[in-house]
Amino acid sequence: MAASTPHRILIVGGGAGGLPLAAALGERLARRGLAEVTLVDPYPTHVWKPLLHEVAAGRMDADSHGVDYPAIAHRHGFRFRQGAMTGLDRAARTIRVGAVFDDEGTEVLPERSLAYDTLVIAVGSESNDFGVPGVAAHAIKLDTPPQAERFHRRLLAASVRADLRKGEGGDGTVCVAIIGAGATGVELAAEIRHSTRAHATYGLDHLDPERDIRIALIEAAPRILPPLSEKIAAAATELLAALRVDVHTGERVVEVTGEEVRTASGRRLPADLLVWAAGIKAPAWLAGLDGLETNRANQLLVRQTLQSTRDPDVFAFGDCAACPWPQSGPGAILPPRAQVAHQQATLLAKSMRARLAGRPLPAFRFRDYGSLVSLGELSAVGSLMGGLIGGSLLVQGLIARWMYASLYKMHQVALHGVALVAFDTVGRTLRGGLEPRVKLH
Ligand SMILES: Cc1cc2nc3c(=O)[nH]c(=O)nc-3n(C[C@H](O)[C@H](O)[C@H](O)COP(=O)(O)OP(=O)(O)OC[C@H]3O[C@@H](n4cnc5c(N)ncnc54)[C@H](O)[C@@H]3O)c2cc1C
Repeated sequence: MAASTPHRILIVGGGAGGLPLAAALGERLARRGLAEVTLVDPYPTHVWKPLLHEVAAGRMDADSHGVDYPAIAHRHGFRFRQGAMTGLDRAARTIRVGAVFDDEGTEVLPERSLAYDTLVIAVGSESNDFGVPGVAAHAIKLDTPPQAERFHRRLLAASVRADLRKGEGGDGTVCVAIIGAGATGVELAAEIRHSTRAHATYGLDHLDPERDIRIALIEAAPRILPPLSEKIAAAATELLAALRVDVHTGERVVEVTGEEVRTASGRRLPADLLVWAAGIKAPAWLAGLDGLETNRANQLLVRQTLQSTRDPDVFAFGDCAACPWPQSGPGAILPPRAQVAHQQATLLAKSMRARLAGRPLPAFRFRDYGSLVSLGELSAVGSLMGGLIGGSLLVQGLIARWMYASLYKMHQVALHGVALVAFDTVGRTLRGGLEPRVKLH
């Protein structure tokens, strides 16, 4: 690593893991001239992915929670380059980045190559529809803010149309089907119930949000929240029942159409609006990327140091990486969670300093602080400290909701610092009194 040319660290993907890492390395290395840190992302703005179900339900405005990459890069001393990584040349140590186009299809930035000494891939995951017929054409996925916003607009329009129909003596029913009762599906179902209640108070005179907006949650496993404990699943099932969400477990979806969901048992569930939230995979272009090792979900295989198994100069973390989780059993890999990505970013910030100094790299050890599932603005359920105290502590209600929100606060603090986040929180709370409880457009 020559002293004259700073070491080039290229981070691909500015999400829950990549953006805090870029901010930390910008401060610790780039500002001191020890390395050149560059972040690449296809979008100009970052929205923390676990907020997307709130955006979809209309409780959160993605624009007001978006972070502009060029601005945060300026603040933390790293560079931002817009574009999607499309290829890798490990021999030349370059990545390919696709062209960027504006809304009218005019090219803004051409296709380019970017050089690195250390490459960190953190491109996240996308929904896995397992090739179920009809999903691509009829279901919305919650992978990006535009998808979440599209669902919200459709929900608003369907509610307004149903209200009008009912006012004219017709049927006001709107059927929302959510496929997959993992945390995303459960949280979305609860949020939709809360937001349609709020929406109905703003001039929908005929619609009864409890009875007319029907929400079905469909899960192939015998119970909801399969990766979490039975206790949490039972508590969440009760809360969903109170929110009048119809839970259908043990129902494997085999096809969806524009009107209904068909399951292996022969059931047909009506669906005016359909969300696919069953399973994730890493982007397909990662599979076999210039000889790097991937698993069946396209995740890059990495060692405990988060270096890819076949190239020590290429790191991967977050949802797009399959990182061993020896504490959970032989062959286990870490789950795709923001908590994992956040902790891995913290480790990598240290690893990069060690790498520049020629010291051995630390190994990643996941500290499981538990899992929380939000069931609306005032409620959550989950377990705390599961892996740390050797047993899970069930938490529910407002305290759990507050702890759930604290994960986002930690992400914000990593980007903006404690003082700015505190001012922002106070500002939003005060502004909340002036704004409708749900986004109405
Ligand atoms: C609705 C929803 C709710 C969730 N709730 C929770 C929760 O409560 N708790 C929890 O722990 N986890 C939750 N998750 C999971 C959590 O969002 C992910 O585990 C976490 O975001 C993973 O972080 P990441 O950095 O790996 O990927 P991401 O945060 O997804 O970031 C990936 C980044 O890579 C960029 N990118 C993609 N392709 C390219 C490319 N080709 N080139 C360059 N950049 C690219 C994307 O634009 C994005 O900025 C939720 C997920 C969803 C969808």
